[in-house]
Amino acid sequence: MPQQHIEFDVRKIREDFPILSRQLNGEQLVYLDNAATSQTPIQVIDVISDYYKNYNSNIHRGVHSLSQEATNKYENSRQKVQSHFNAKFPHEIIFTSGTTDAINLVAHGFETILNENDEVIVSALEHHSNIVPWQMLCEKTGAVLRVIPMNEEGELVLSEYDKLLSDKTKLVFVNHISNALGTINPIERIIEKAHGVGAAILIDGAQACPHIRPDVLALDVDFYVASAHKMCGPTGVGVLYGKEKWLNTLPPYQGGGEMISEVTFEKTTYADLPHKFEAGTPHVCGVIAYGAAIDYLNGIGFENIQQHEKELLTYATEQLTAIEGLRIYGPTKNKTSVISFNINGIHPYDIGTILDKMGIAVRTGHHCAQPIMDYYKIPGTVRASFSFYNTLDEIDKLVSGVKKAKAMLS
Ligand SMILES: *Cc1c(COP(=O)(O)O)cnc(C)c1O
Repeated sequence: MPQQHIEFDVRKIREDFPILSRQLNGEQLVYLDNAATSQTPIQVIDVISDYYKNYNSNIHRGVHSLSQEATNKYENSRQKVQSHFNAKFPHEIIFTSGTTDAINLVAHGFETILNENDEVIVSALEHHSNIVPWQMLCEKTGAVLRVIPMNEEGELVLSEYDKLLSDKTKLVFVNHISNALGTINPIERIIEKAHGVGAAILIDGAQACPHIRPDVLALDVDFYVASAHKMCGPTGVGVLYGKEKWLNTLPPYQGGGEMISEVTFEKTTYADLPHKFEAGTPHVCGVIAYGAAIDYLNGIGFENIQQHEKELLTYATEQLTAIEGLRIYGPTKNKTSVISFNINGIHPYDIGTILDKMGIAVRTGHHCAQPIMDYYKIPGTVRASFSFYNTLDEIDKLVSGVKKAKAMLS
């Protein structure tokens, strides 16, 4: 459902998020851990509450009207995701429990396709979710894993990618935006080059979808995955977009109810797409709420989101860079509103702990991306990640908090 774009007024938008007015350790909460999970607007919370109050029931199998209502809303969400991602068919949208689950589904499917003569390509900028399932796939099939290296700027070295590609390459998997550094990868070129050698490609869009509306048709991508909880939706819901021909080729991931056409003890035939990949009772309420989250984001408008977040990023980068001894990792120009940093001689965990005492929520550690930390030879970073509902005032609080932490720790 297209909505009118509202005038961007961050103070008004913040009123949609009840959690943003709470206190943390006696201070006003400053939530800057949006790359780990986003906060939930009242419009989405109301949909969750309405489901359990008024039409909680199992989908697809009930003759009663309650089940019909839940089924209609669940399938309506599928159409919302289809239109949001610009997929050709609704049955190319598979609901999963998250990005991790969606990647595992695809990796499992390729077990029957790959062998020891094949190669697959990952990048140095990946979240562990987009590394480990493929390593497991390679162990099972004997296929060889190759890695696109990164540079100091936090960018992928595409000339090295060119050298890795060959007619042995069967599959490439790269993220759209890095969760640890915020780098926006040139996925158009990465996809085109993979297709140039006949390889399929999966894009991990978990970190991109809060900021960008992906167009899977224009990208011509084979698989695109994301999580609802990073885009104002609930946890436990994610999406796998797959081209129809690939989803028809891959075997089912899990066996169970809902995914079959006929079951006897001699033989089971599988249901058509998308049900073939949605075994068991799904997160009905979560999927419906995911549709509401997509409506909400489109209501704010992705151009508004990008413009505001860019302003936050520019301001925060200037202010933090001015602190002596502070280093920002992956300073590439092509990045979203994530700042990963350290201060000379101070452990990131100690900075995070002091910020927490001031009500400021940031993440510290390796951010599920240890290969990036290894590249910079550090144990981890402090990561501040901004959303469209953050303010310049909150950045000021972060900067003065970091200065205080520095003074206390050095
Ligand atoms: C968060 C994230 C994941 C994992 O998502 P889950 O919701 O935990 O399954 C994978 N890749 C990237 C880039 C992420 O940011």
